[in-house]
Amino acid sequence: MSGWRVPPVDLARENEHVVEYLRALLAPMLGRGEFILGDAVGAFEEEFARRSGATEAVGVSSGTDAIALALRGLGVESGDEVVTVANSFVATAGAIVQLGATPVFCDVGDDELIDVDQLEAHITRRTTAVVPVHLRGRPADLIGLRSVADRHGLAMVEDCSQAFLAERSGHQVGTVGHAGCFSLHPLKNPGAMGDAGVVITSDATLAARLRVLRNHGLVDRDTCAEWGSNARLDAVQAALLMPKLEVASQRRDRRATVAAEYRAVLEGLGDGSVVPPPVRAEAVEAWYSFVVRVRDSRDALLAALHQRGIGALVHYPVPIHLQPAARGLGLGLGALPTTERLAGEILTLPCFSTMTDDEVQMVADALLEVLPSA
Ligand SMILES: *Cc1c(COP(=O)(O)O)cnc(C)c1O
Repeated sequence: MSGWRVPPVDLARENEHVVEYLRALLAPMLGRGEFILGDAVGAFEEEFARRSGATEAVGVSSGTDAIALALRGLGVESGDEVVTVANSFVATAGAIVQLGATPVFCDVGDDELIDVDQLEAHITRRTTAVVPVHLRGRPADLIGLRSVADRHGLAMVEDCSQAFLAERSGHQVGTVGHAGCFSLHPLKNPGAMGDAGVVITSDATLAARLRVLRNHGLVDRDTCAEWGSNARLDAVQAALLMPKLEVASQRRDRRATVAAEYRAVLEGLGDGSVVPPPVRAEAVEAWYSFVVRVRDSRDALLAALHQRGIGALVHYPVPIHLQPAARGLGLGLGALPTTERLAGEILTLPCFSTMTDDEVQMVADALLEVLPSA
C-alpha cells in the first residue's frame, strides 16, 4: 500500500471484521431493493442514539451536512454570524458558509480547544449560534460553552466528528449542546465505507424537522413543506456501520492505551521539546488522533520520522482563516495568535485502534532515536 513501516492509519485492517457481516447483509438488502433510508437507517439511528447518550439520532449523508442541517434546523439563516474555531477541518466553516452565514473565528487555548474566555468578545447582534469542535477527540468545555450560549440566546451545535464516545464532566459530547454532529467518513470513528454522518439531539421537534430537511423538505410522499436538500443516509452505509458501532468503545480504549504509551515515552524524555496533548481529570478522550506540540523545528522531526518509515502527519497545517477560500472574511496573519502558532508546532503520530504493539514500539523507538534525551 505504501512505504511506511507504521502507516498513519490502516483502513483495511480497521474494516477486516466487517467482511463476513457484509456477505450476509448485502444479499437480502439487494432482494428488498431498499437502498436509501428505510429499516437499516432506522436501526442504525436507534443504536447510535443509545450509544451517544441522546434520545434521537438522524442519519445524514456526511458530517458537513450534519452541521449545516442542525444549524438550519435551529434557525440559523443567511446573514447570521456563527462563532467557531479556525484550527478544525475546513468543513466546520464550510457548513456555516453553505447556509449563507458568516463564520467568526474564536482563538483556541494551547490545548487546541475553543477558549471559552474569549468567546463573548466575538458575539454581536447578528450572532445566532456557536459551533465548538472536539478536536482530536478531546472534549471542549461543554458546560462553560452552554452557559455562554444560553446567556446570549445562541444555538449550540457541537462538531463531534472526531469525538464519538468522548465525555466531559460526565456528559457525552453532543448532548450538552442543542445538537451534536458526527462525521462517519471512513477515517472517522466509527467510519462507514463511503460518506455518512449523523445528528444527535434530545429535542424531538428538532429531530422531526431534520428528518424533513434531509429529504427534500418532504413531510409525506407528495408534500414539500419547505425547501430541503438531499442529505439522506443510505441503507448500505447504515448497515455497514452497525458492526463498527459494536466495537467502537473497545477501539477507543485501545487508542487510549496507545496514547498513554506515547505519553510515557515523551514524558520520559523530560527536556520539554515535544509536549504531549494535555488531558483533564474530568474528561474521557476518544483519541481520534494523538497530536504533539514540537516547540521548534517541527518539520525536521517530521522528516526524521518519515525517514524511519513512521507515518506522522500534520493536521492541519493551514488554519481555516488563512485558506484562500476565506479571503473574503478579511482575516490576515495575526488575527488568531494561538491558532497560528500551533499550526507550526503540531505533529500527528499514528494512533489507530488496530495498531500492533510492535508498531507502537517502532514509533516509540523512532522518537527516542531522534529526540535529545534528558
Ligand atoms: C471530518 C470532519 C468534518 C466533515 O465531515 P465529512 O463527513 O467529511 O463531511 C467536519 N468537522 C470535523 C472536525 C471533521 O473532522
